[in-house]
Amino acid sequence: MAAKKEKTLNDLFEDGLKDIYYAEKKILAALPKMAKATQSDELASAFKQHQDETEQQLERLEEVFQAIDQQPKGKKCPGIEGIIEEGKEIIDQFKGMPALDAGLVAAAQAVEHYEITRYGSLIAWANKLGLGDAVPLLKQNLDEEKRTDERLTQLAETTINEYAQAAE
Ligand code: FE
Ligand code: FE
Ligand code: FE
Repeated sequence: MAAKKEKTLNDLFEDGLKDIYYAEKKILAALPKMAKATQSDELASAFKQHQDETEQQLERLEEVFQAIDQQPKGKKCPGIEGIIEEGKEIIDQFKGMPALDAGLVAAAQAVEHYEITRYGSLIAWANKLGLGDAVPLLKQNLDEEKRTDERLTQLAETTINEYAQAAE
């Protein structure tokens, strides 16, 4: 029996990069649907802003692929597909209800948190692997995810959760 090919930290990094590249594309397609579904102008504008940022993030990821001499390529990410699927359920089940936007914020934060864990690991591995060109690009993406997460928390806590409860 042939020996199993050695898998390295570098393979983990490349697989992780393909995973987040795939995930960012799915997120880019989901954000306009979320902006359309929300009843809150503020939430819609947060989703639209993050849609623009996500386009930039994909370009940065393409630069990271370039920095490691690889063609940009996605690898199916069942994690993000499940998270986006849950968001769709919220949209279907809470359509027209005051609690819809609270559910949309939570769904969007699940996306941001997925991204935050991925970028956190990729940055740590890139540092370890001496991929100095990749680190600042990945950090910019991570910072945008964190800022988006904070903005969503703020919207929920200042207006959206209260509105969701008001109908009770
Ligand atoms: Fe992103
Ligand atoms: Fe994944
Ligand atoms: Fe994001």
